[in-house]
Amino acid sequence: MQWFAHVFGKRKNAAERRPAQIFFTNTLSGSKELFISQRPGIVTMYSCGPTVYGSAHIGNLRAYVFSDTIARALGADGYRVRRVINITDVGHLVGDGDQGEDKMAVGAAREKTTPQDIADRYTKEFTEDLSELNIDTKDIQFPRATDYIKEQIALAKTLEEKGFAYRIKNGLAFDTSRFPSYGKLGNIDLGAQRVGARIEMDREKRHPADFWLWRSAKPNDLQQWDSPWGRGNPGWHIECSAMSRALLGQEIDIHTGGEDHIGAHHNNEIAQSEAASGRTFVHYWMHNAFLMVEGQKISKSLHNDIYLKDIVAKGFDPLALRYFYLQAHYRTHLSFSWNALAGAAGALERLEKFSRDINTESKGKSAPSEARERFLVAMRDDLATPQALGILWDSLKSEEYAPEEKWGLIQDAELHLGLNLTRPSTSNVVESADLPEHIRILLEQREKARVTKDFAAADRLRSEIENGGYHVDDGPNGPVLTMRTL
Ligand code: AMP
Ligand code: ZN
Repeated sequence: MQWFAHVFGKRKNAAERRPAQIFFTNTLSGSKELFISQRPGIVTMYSCGPTVYGSAHIGNLRAYVFSDTIARALGADGYRVRRVINITDVGHLVGDGDQGEDKMAVGAAREKTTPQDIADRYTKEFTEDLSELNIDTKDIQFPRATDYIKEQIALAKTLEEKGFAYRIKNGLAFDTSRFPSYGKLGNIDLGAQRVGARIEMDREKRHPADFWLWRSAKPNDLQQWDSPWGRGNPGWHIECSAMSRALLGQEIDIHTGGEDHIGAHHNNEIAQSEAASGRTFVHYWMHNAFLMVEGQKISKSLHNDIYLKDIVAKGFDPLALRYFYLQAHYRTHLSFSWNALAGAAGALERLEKFSRDINTESKGKSAPSEARERFLVAMRDDLATPQALGILWDSLKSEEYAPEEKWGLIQDAELHLGLNLTRPSTSNVVESADLPEHIRILLEQREKARVTKDFAAADRLRSEIENGGYHVDDGPNGPVLTMRTL
């Protein structure tokens, strides 16, 4: 069987010839569970994607580094992960529920163009941001909600035919009272919702938790389609149910999103999908906690939003942001500050240097070690990235391990963490032609000192080069100069 080779193929040690046991916290049960995919060796994973009416901020990007970390951990254990991140280009209202302005219309008005144009612009920017964070976008499908209108209408029609929806003057609503387990994700208290914030509730809806499947168009709506319920556009939640079904099937293994999606969006997805299919929609629900700034969640509406381009503009490597995210467990709130990011950038630089040195010392040969096993145990324990990073640091600094063992650990760490450790970033490597004249002279003098084994002079010259704003490392093919970013 092909999957058998896929899952067990790489391991040589007989004791290890069984699939690794990996545990994830499932929001559905609220506890850590052993992960078992529905089909051996294959995982289907859907992540709620961005609403492309503006740039994705670094809170949003935390959600995608999180799902990438899941995919990497599963990939490293031999699974083939089929990934979807949807692109919301219609239907998402500013209030996240059934109220407020349409986000795409807001973006189009702001930039005096069409929703389509806004969607193209910010989808491109989003996938570029992911690539900069070392997320392999070739491995992911990015369906757009407006390309799946037919599927959304078909699903809403099924729900209506099965008696889970009712017509209202301005569209079609899902009847949550017909779905007894509504609110099961995160144990949402429907009673509280009744007296909750939905003041602007549509009066025709029977319950405050009921939500639009289809919304009738207002005369000047820029996005509208024909449907059995008249011209209009889909409610926000139906796109995820329809697209995950179309691309990954009726039952999927993992669904991810930020913690803000648990209450309404994901409970609504469950209600729609399970009411339509009569099957379990998602086996493992996984949610990342918020990225915060000064005690508040980062969000556009709070006007405390920071973007990857701001980080790059300040001279940071985007991977410093990835490292910063990984320092916290995905289920804990993480506070962003420029100082904390600078700390992460410094740590990543030191880790890169360790990796280059170890690569040279080990001549690129790797060996198994107990440190490597401990690293994998941490990652398989609900992606304990802070512990995994701690093990990586301690082991690389330790004299207990041979360079080959350290290089083996770095290789595994790279698969899981995606920090470019086995292929140290060349983005800040400086070609000699681009060097200022005085640094080039210092570099030549240092090379001469090294060749004649005058190490005191070589060290002094290295310090002078560093004072000039450059790091010098001795790679296998001679000195490598990098810009000091901090
Ligand atoms: P949106 O574009 O609002 O649908 O958000 C895209 C993704 O980012 C969703 O998974 C959200 O749950 C997540 N998200 C939004 N704000 C934050 C934040 N401050 N920290 C972490 N994740 C967030
Ligand atoms: Zn979604």
